[in-house]
Amino acid sequence: MIEGSTLVSYPAGETGGRSTVVARVPVGEGHGTVVAETPFHPLDHTWPDQPADRGTIAGIAVTDCVTGAVADGEQRIHLGEDIPVRRGSSGWSWLVVHVTREPVPDGEVELAVDAEYRHALSTGHTACHLAALALNAALADRWRKEISADGLGNPDFDQTAIASSRILPGGSLDVYRLGKSLRRKGFVTEGLQESLPEITGKVCDTLKEWVAADAEVRIESPGRELTARRTWRCGLPEGEVTIPCGGTHLPSTSRLGAVTVSFELSQDGTELTMRTTAG
Ligand SMILES: [Zn+2]
Repeated sequence: MIEGSTLVSYPAGETGGRSTVVARVPVGEGHGTVVAETPFHPLDHTWPDQPADRGTIAGIAVTDCVTGAVADGEQRIHLGEDIPVRRGSSGWSWLVVHVTREPVPDGEVELAVDAEYRHALSTGHTACHLAALALNAALADRWRKEISADGLGNPDFDQTAIASSRILPGGSLDVYRLGKSLRRKGFVTEGLQESLPEITGKVCDTLKEWVAADAEVRIESPGRELTARRTWRCGLPEGEVTIPCGGTHLPSTSRLGAVTVSFELSQDGTELTMRTTAG
């Protein structure tokens, strides 16, 4: 019987811990293990941006880490894409499921996240948020109508146009949809291809300033449960910015090293891809 959601320590930057096995669930050919508290970041089933952590549980390699959910009063653990409700829906317990090839022993186990890989993903995730804010600023003069603003007061192109966001080790890949609905909201796409070098330059310059500013980055959490609504907070020179975020981050912008972006506009002009690289 599952009693409540898994408590997580990764938002605070933890990569190790000890906890007790509380449930097991088969995952394909593998074994899924749930513990009371874990430093492992699982892939989110609603917005799968940051990949799962790697590492070991009881010395056994964790080959994957997925989100699980159990409806109150039920036994069945739904996994990943098979979860029928959105992240954090009430009436459900939310679980971190560590997947291994061999079964994990009962009782208390040691959990160790691959710290180097985590660091690379945290680098990618912090760079991703900053690049999105810098892109909003660079595209601010392309809006003909008023739309919701980001934390720095710029039209929030990122949140309005984002189709998918993937955090990579040391970077990220964001795909924006520039279709009819975005144009109807007032975004001007004319001449975008020709403006890409200028936009790239603007975004890179802004990122350079923000890295040099050594701005503090924090994750604020209202609770320790997996699906607590956490917030990324960064004190940029232009102002303090917050973004809802379930991932992991570096403690300051200066830790990113050099951050650069490149853009690619699809042939038909309906998809803009931003590749961000840090380090
Ligand atoms: Zn995020």
